Amino acid sequence: MRINTAFDSGNIDVIEANSSDNIRLTIRKDHQSDFYQWFHYKLFAEVGEEHVMIIENAGKSAYPDGWKDYQALASYDRDTWFRVPTEYDGEKLTIRHTPEQESVYYAYFVPYSYERHLDLIQQAQQSVDCYHELLGETIDGRELNLLIIGEPSEEKNTIWVTARQHPGESMAEWLMEGLLGRLLDDEDGVARKLLDENVFYVVPNMNPDGSVRGHLRTNAVGTNLNREWAEPSLEKSPEVFYVLKRMQETGVDMFLDVHGDEALPYNFVAGCEGIPSYDERHKHLEETFKNALLAATPEFQDEFGYEKDEPGKANMTVACSAVGERFKCLSYTLEMPFKDNADLPDEDFGWSSTRCQRLGEDVLTAILAVSPILRKV
Ligand SMILES: [Zn+2]
Repeated sequence: MRINTAFDSGNIDVIEANSSDNIRLTIRKDHQSDFYQWFHYKLFAEVGEEHVMIIENAGKSAYPDGWKDYQALASYDRDTWFRVPTEYDGEKLTIRHTPEQESVYYAYFVPYSYERHLDLIQQAQQSVDCYHELLGETIDGRELNLLIIGEPSEEKNTIWVTARQHPGESMAEWLMEGLLGRLLDDEDGVARKLLDENVFYVVPNMNPDGSVRGHLRTNAVGTNLNREWAEPSLEKSPEVFYVLKRMQETGVDMFLDVHGDEALPYNFVAGCEGIPSYDERHKHLEETFKNALLAATPEFQDEFGYEKDEPGKANMTVACSAVGERFKCLSYTLEMPFKDNADLPDEDFGWSSTRCQRLGEDVLTAILAVSPILRKV
């Protein structure tokens, strides 16, 4: 029996793996940070024997509530990921699985590799509607890629969509794959109409270094990018620095920042009601987008989510608030679950990569509903 993590987004340390009924593991912290929760490892197993894998430091991870009712993911072919029985006792997370093949992968959520990211960029570039721009390089020397979709023009709205500031939230990039697939489909009426009225600036992965390193929440030097939007720096947060600089050149009429939430088993949005300039216009834009997404898919709901900020009490280092205030635009954080959508549960797969993609397609329907009023007073 062996465990290996020497691959893209691998993360686990082995304390002991001598017998299949007592495999003791710990999750590694993000480099230069105390955050941890993402895990991804490969087990060389005894076929037909139950394996009991205990993550001993689960209770001290970034979001212990995330383990309640959580079921880990497993895959034989790295394409289909299914849920396996998982228990949490307030301290340790125990995953039980009887492998049917010699080796199995386990992960916190369906991984989205850097190689797949590079494929996504090159495939998008094949479209005549898409222009690929290198915003800059990360601390580890990876690409920070921007896709510009639609012909830029003064009359059109500028819509920015970013994902995966928190690299362990791989669902965010799965959503981007669905969104891009639809937006670049020239036989899709919603996409064609959207590109008549808007230009999209899409960053499918804001944090490639953290993604490859198997981090939960930070980049190569332990920076939480979603706390850097007041004053990003090339030393600590080049990813945010380059994106914000480009936003200042293009202006922003709408911003959507895509994330995953460890604890809540729902899809939901968080707005910027706490920013100084929040007003009726802003509220109307939020309501219009939200109602259109509610009408588009039962995967989205507005009952469960984060507590709303008090007026003027927003954290201005967070992307959604910083961009909403600076550009006086509709600005939303979109959150997806690691677990499942409790309104539409799926015992075998939970919240899956395909469901992320579908939600990405439906987000475009909601953007179409709000597009005509993004600039109107
Ligand atoms: Zn996040």
